[in-house]
Amino acid sequence: MQNEQESKRLQMVETQIRDRGIKDRRVLEAFRKVPRHLFLDEALRPQAYEDHPLPIGEKQTISQPYIVALMTEALRLTGHEKVLEIGTGSGYQTGILAQMAEQVYSIERIPSLAKRARKLLDDLKYTNVIINIGDGTQGWKEYSPYGGIIVTAAAPEAPDPLLQQLETGGRLVIPIGDEFQQDLVVYVKEGEDRYREENYGGVRFVKLIGKHGWKD
Ligand code: SAH
Repeated sequence: MQNEQESKRLQMVETQIRDRGIKDRRVLEAFRKVPRHLFLDEALRPQAYEDHPLPIGEKQTISQPYIVALMTEALRLTGHEKVLEIGTGSGYQTGILAQMAEQVYSIERIPSLAKRARKLLDDLKYTNVIINIGDGTQGWKEYSPYGGIIVTAAAPEAPDPLLQQLETGGRLVIPIGDEFQQDLVVYVKEGEDRYREENYGGVRFVKLIGKHGWKD
């Protein structure tokens, strides 16, 4: 069973991620390692390596593998960074980040999801992850500045606290748009209050709910 999931996973990396243009070798390596099927309910595990998003409970979803890869590559991590993630969800993206950065801080607003992700990441021995329950649109000032910030829910605009908590040269990866469709946008911090924007194309995410996001 384990081997069957692993061979599906390796095939996913080739056909859905590498063949579509993701080149960062450390991204590809992380996707080969993290057992995506374990982040899903048992009934959904047979579909874990398919080319689409899946429900994770509480009306939330785990993104399609390619989108997780695209967002991760857009952070341009070298392995030495502190990374902040908003929207822990299942913890799958968190696990990928844990393979690629020095330390991962992740915030989730729904306690039951945060607790499940915490337990699984502990079981998988990702010791460089700290999860907090709360409103991630306000960032996590205590450990800032971050080399990268990734938001896995859709926002009407880039939350100001997240831009503030980036280090110079750091990158904020976030879906920006309305509740039905968004663009994946990267804000690169070039200096105090100076940001360059890059657009990575259309995506669709659940809503980012909080003080600097959508109202509940
Ligand atoms: N990266 C996740 C995707 C989760 S979906 C995964 O790999 O499974 C988006 C998540 O963002 C949901 O769990 C939702 O509860 C959470 N979320 C929405 N608004 C938030 C906020 N303001 N702060 C923290 N988490 C938030």
